[in-house]
Amino acid sequence: MHESQVARKLVATLEAAVNEKGAIGVKSVKVRLGGVHWVDPDAFRELFVLFSQGTKSELAQLEIEEAPPKARCQPCGFTFVPHDHHPLCPQCGSAEIEIEAEPDLQILELALIMTNQNIGVTQLDLGSDEIRPIC
Ligand SMILES: [Zn+2]
Repeated sequence: MHESQVARKLVATLEAAVNEKGAIGVKSVKVRLGGVHWVDPDAFRELFVLFSQGTKSELAQLEIEEAPPKARCQPCGFTFVPHDHHPLCPQCGSAEIEIEAEPDLQILELALIMTNQNIGVTQLDLGSDEIRPIC
């Protein structure tokens, strides 16, 4: 459920970037997956391929960087990767856990395919500062 929302959002964002820049398609995109629930990268990749069919990101190469959430125990200070929404501290058993997570999805790099009457097909590289974090 969650992965599917995030994958749909990525496809929509890429479509908007292609239209905004007057490109003909997406060559490659690099994303960072974060979030409290930690989006599963394999499921995400499959959904991206599915949802991007027939869109301008259909042939895009997708590179995924993972950013798992971090949990920190308030009483003892132990840090660990949480595996569910209400984790217990593996060291002292406390439920007073603070979870830090990156946004569900950030686009780090994006390469668009452009056409130019004089020089044919070119590539436009956008850095993360040019692309808004999307959710
Ligand atoms: Zn603890």
